[in-house]
Amino acid sequence: MELFAPSLMTPNGWRSNSVIRIEDGWITAIEAADHPPNGAEKAAGPVLPGMPNLHSHAFQRAMAGLTERWGSPTDSFWSWRDLMYRFVARLTPDDIRAVALQLYIECLKQGYTAVAEFHYLHNQPDGLPYDNPAETSLQILAAARQAGIGLTHLPVLYAHGGFGEQPLGDAQSRFRSDPDAILAISEVVRAEARGDANVTVGAAPHSLRAADPAMIEALAQGLRRSDPAAPLHIHIAEQVKEVEDCLAWCGKRPVELLADSQAMDDGWCLVHATHLTEAETRAIAESGAVAGLCPTTEANLGDGLFPLVPYRSAGGVFGIGSDSHVCRDPAEELRLLEYGQRLSRRARNVGASELDPSTGGSLWRSAVAGGAKACGRPIAGIAEGERADLVVLDGKHADLTGRTGDAVTDTLIFSGGRDFVRDVMVGGVWAIRDGRHSQEDAAETDFRAALNRLLA
Ligand code: ZN
Repeated sequence: MELFAPSLMTPNGWRSNSVIRIEDGWITAIEAADHPPNGAEKAAGPVLPGMPNLHSHAFQRAMAGLTERWGSPTDSFWSWRDLMYRFVARLTPDDIRAVALQLYIECLKQGYTAVAEFHYLHNQPDGLPYDNPAETSLQILAAARQAGIGLTHLPVLYAHGGFGEQPLGDAQSRFRSDPDAILAISEVVRAEARGDANVTVGAAPHSLRAADPAMIEALAQGLRRSDPAAPLHIHIAEQVKEVEDCLAWCGKRPVELLADSQAMDDGWCLVHATHLTEAETRAIAESGAVAGLCPTTEANLGDGLFPLVPYRSAGGVFGIGSDSHVCRDPAEELRLLEYGQRLSRRARNVGASELDPSTGGSLWRSAVAGGAKACGRPIAGIAEGERADLVVLDGKHADLTGRTGDAVTDTLIFSGGRDFVRDVMVGGVWAIRDGRHSQEDAAETDFRAALNRLLA
């Protein structure tokens, strides 16, 4: 197909009046044209690269808004986690699929075109594997395909309840796994998705709390034997207590431990990486690993602020994720990322630079490039050889009046968001047309039914 874009953001800047040629879901050419060629579709507004969502726990969508009541003077990440565990105990495979489908449709409608699913709910509620150990992973794959969103599936290794190989608690028995089990799940999903350019499979040690260095190495080596480019993700240094526990256990901070014990390279995504020394900040940047930032979840959980400025100054790459899904809007995620930095530094336009002076443009382009790397998929923007994952904004939206080039993304991020998004394409197929997904009503009915049962 051919899509005529009056205004188009590419990795090298904005173009006007261009034709994007798409074959089998791939962008094969971008050419200048005065007007739409015969048979070409015309985009209804500015065209942006779709945003990869590099960190998702889909089931947590069902809890959004339920953990905002006072429980004690020390409400924290850890009290939130207790509530999450109680919720986890009730989820069936059908619930996992229904919640994920609703979530993925919402993500598409707001401008995400791919998701990296950090999936640790492997076992039955009693802790035994399902007959098919990949049962819940296959529900995630099915939901992503039904929604039409790109997927990087990351089955999660979760073996310990804390540093020093502490035993798992009862509430964690649904997550119990070892490297071989995770590699087996990865193989099943990879086989099921073979030939599907919208799906990639990686793996994720949950954290240094939940997987020891030897296990992480076994997982990484096994995975890279199957696919040398497969991405590896890990939660790291999200909480001060996690840093303190790691120091108490081994004398190293989490990022130090990971860098010392693993080949930390550009195949890694370090999710959160909130609490870093200057040396750790530089080490991540120099390794080429992606920092997976989840600003709305990190704010919701009271994690802290990522050192964005020194990290980017050192050449660090980042992407964004919606993590617990209190927000499914990439524009809002980037807005909060920038505002956190502004508030802490008492400065403006922290995400911009002399070379790339638009804050919105710089953040959107950077998060697309970093997100693509973390997802391990060719979705790094609207360019030849990449997948045709793109977002068409509503050119008739009042807020976009008179906006061209990066003023569009500045306005999207700082004055707009989800209601700007009109059409969304994934792998050359329209997933959202005129703000709607063809299956959104049925998906919402199933989501409501699942919620009613879970909350009963
Ligand atoms: Zn997470």
